[in-house]
Amino acid sequence: MTTVQNHPTAPRTTADWQQADARHFLHPFTDFKGLAAKGSRIIAKADNIYLWDSEGHKILDGMSGLWCVNVGYGQQSLIDAAARQMKELPFYNAFFQTATMPAIELAEVLAEISPPQFQHVFFTGSGSEGNDTIVRMVRRYWDVVGQPERQVIIGRINGYHGSTMAGASLGGMSGMHAQGGLPIPGITHIQQPHWFELGQGQGLTRDAFGLQAAGWLEEKILEIGADKVAAFIGEPVQGAGGVIVPPATYWPEIQRICDKFGILLVSDEVICGFGRTGNWFGCETMGFKPDLMTFAKGVTSGYIPLGGVLVGDRVAQVMIDEGGEFNHGFTYSGHPTACAVALANIKLLRDLDLVSHVRDDIGPYLATRMAELDDHPLVGETQACGMMAAVQLVKEKGTEPGTGTCFASELDVGMLCRNHCFGNGLIMRAVGDRMIVAPPLVMTRAQIDEMMVLIRRCLDLTLAEVRERGWV
Ligand SMILES: *Cc1c(COP(=O)(O)O)cnc(C)c1O
Repeated sequence: MTTVQNHPTAPRTTADWQQADARHFLHPFTDFKGLAAKGSRIIAKADNIYLWDSEGHKILDGMSGLWCVNVGYGQQSLIDAAARQMKELPFYNAFFQTATMPAIELAEVLAEISPPQFQHVFFTGSGSEGNDTIVRMVRRYWDVVGQPERQVIIGRINGYHGSTMAGASLGGMSGMHAQGGLPIPGITHIQQPHWFELGQGQGLTRDAFGLQAAGWLEEKILEIGADKVAAFIGEPVQGAGGVIVPPATYWPEIQRICDKFGILLVSDEVICGFGRTGNWFGCETMGFKPDLMTFAKGVTSGYIPLGGVLVGDRVAQVMIDEGGEFNHGFTYSGHPTACAVALANIKLLRDLDLVSHVRDDIGPYLATRMAELDDHPLVGETQACGMMAAVQLVKEKGTEPGTGTCFASELDVGMLCRNHCFGNGLIMRAVGDRMIVAPPLVMTRAQIDEMMVLIRRCLDLTLAEVRERGWV
């Protein structure tokens, strides 16, 4: 028999934690062996927009955890909501003709804050499960309306829709498709509206490029046959792909094409929802009307897992009136404690007026401050939308903003920069050579200034390093 020591008498050191971590914990999206050799950074506590590691270093969290801690850390009303609900009724399911009060109330509130076509919600435990639900629901919809041959769902290269079989298939991450035999059948992809990678150098304006990129959807639909296409899915602003803000012309044109062929339009709002772009949902900022929306992350500000699908009237009416039993659902669909935390989170977003704070004040301020980085020798393009922004690192700047020549990808300059950020108390993520932030919506202007000082310092350190290595 082995004894398990749950409560070691001496406090564990960082090295103890790292060793135990390396021995037993397989991290998501991680080279296990590489991390074990290096040791994880152990995050011990958080408040507002700051984290502290196990060594007591303070870090400004420019990524809101993982795009989710919209209201910042340490919000007492969310903590209280969880404790209260756990005492009253920590869990009950919604399978067998039962419901719990927080789930009903959250469904009601979501219908209130979302665009008018959304009156119904299907709850899941995560964004990935939300997108699995999307795949099953849109295919079921077309079965019920008597067009079962409409099975194909079109996503985008470099889109991200989660990590389950369906989520990873809808996404367009080649590294994910290469493992586990993905995508699953009936899912295909078009190119993304990524100006810096695909737009610049063609002599097009950004708006013209937006129309060109949306046109790739029409080409794909015609190639497959419109009568075989069920839906198109995209993130209003691509998040994990590198905060790629499409030209203003893109989404309205996508909408026009979907309408023309009667195809369902799905907005993956897992990052863009709950105020991130300066409206409750990203589709409102980008000017389109989806039939379905996936949500997760910001719905609870990440304090507890929750996700789901907002189902628009077009699909909901068919599923309700003619669909019969929908053979789909999760143990945690409508989890009362998660729903109670979501309700407290949405109440706080409202009480603090955070959505208009992002739209009218802090979002435009972040955009202005980010644009100042355009003068930096390493920066080829900056983009911002609400509280998300990107800085494209380049080997050589072009003649105008939004143009330039990239470093060879194997140099991994983004990773150099990210390491400087880590070393200087800033969490900023690298997607290739695109440095991205998505800070909590509660940030003040003074905190943005503090973040910008760190970002510029890290760009300077990275520039010094690439010069030293002879890469520029
Ligand atoms: C994070 C994310 C998901 C997946 O959500 P999980 O909760 O990690 O399953 C799906 N779509 C988008 C746009 C995301 O950013």
